[in-house]
Amino acid sequence: MTKLAFLILAVFVSLSYTTSIKAIHAHETSSYSHPICIYSVVICLSDQLQRKEAEGLDNEKLIYSALNQVNSTKLKNWIDDLSSFYTRHTKSEYIESVAYWLKNGLQSVCNGKTYFHNFTQIDQRIRYNLKNIICYQEGSTEYDNNHLILISAHYDSRMQDINQSDARAPGADDNASGVAAVLELARILSKVDLRNNIQYVLFSGEEQGQWGSTAYVKNLQPNNTKVDLVMNLDMIGYPALGLDNVSIEYDLGNKFTTNDIYSKKVGQFIEQIALDYANLETSLRPLGMTDLIPFEATGKIVIGIHDGGSELNPNYHNTSDTLDTLDIEYLTSVTKLVLAAILNIDELSLY
Ligand SMILES: [Zn+2]
Repeated sequence: MTKLAFLILAVFVSLSYTTSIKAIHAHETSSYSHPICIYSVVICLSDQLQRKEAEGLDNEKLIYSALNQVNSTKLKNWIDDLSSFYTRHTKSEYIESVAYWLKNGLQSVCNGKTYFHNFTQIDQRIRYNLKNIICYQEGSTEYDNNHLILISAHYDSRMQDINQSDARAPGADDNASGVAAVLELARILSKVDLRNNIQYVLFSGEEQGQWGSTAYVKNLQPNNTKVDLVMNLDMIGYPALGLDNVSIEYDLGNKFTTNDIYSKKVGQFIEQIALDYANLETSLRPLGMTDLIPFEATGKIVIGIHDGGSELNPNYHNTSDTLDTLDIEYLTSVTKLVLAAILNIDELSLY
């Protein structure tokens, strides 16, 4: 009941500035007797509610069966392996082997094309050849195939001193936890016939100032790739806000203001999903400095999920950010929340 009521509020995601304007206009002028179609993970709400009622049971079954597949042991093992690299510092000698290891890992779980996005970054006159890792899962051919949801996490780590590239930096919470969740989401969603295309993206160079995501956004632009929604997971394994609380970050201001309303609505939608499917309370707050910023700067609709650890985890950017300090059940719940959010958004996407 609360979910249905909430759906009336669920306004979705548009990409281009012009569609956003049109959408806002449509919202203002339409009455609730007409479908309210707002943008591009398009949701026509009145149709939507009927569809939800008619198909609701089957879809709910599908969602719960997917949620039951989230595997704590797999999540834990990914983090164990990732934090066993001495460091994942972007300027370290290990970063290349981490990238290859992750590409293999992503390939083994994702039913789609897995590839590197290679980029070069020059910093203090030194050239770094770096890699983002991507798996592209095509949506069902039944639907217009032009829509894309991007799920991301950065895989690099650091110590307090950003220049210490040769120090031990396990980065279990920051951000092996987010990477593990992306891999687990890819494993489960690969078996689901989705309407939307999905890109699972693992970024390098976040700690240096969003190098990987900035390069990736630049790479998307000339190809004119439409991205309907970006969800970024950065630190989701240390329950800094409590075992039943997770932080949802939405876009407020930053470079564009036209996309704010959509980001907030998606954030509020996810808050309800968190309660309904993962027993998690949420703290809705504005975006921090994450890999979402470069996407927002091109007008995209972005949402961040994190555990509040960048302020409250005493192991943050320290050698003590290890697997044993995490709560794997908590990480499992947050992963379920993201999975339920994607499945619900996908289900609500009318193409
Ligand atoms: Zn991080």
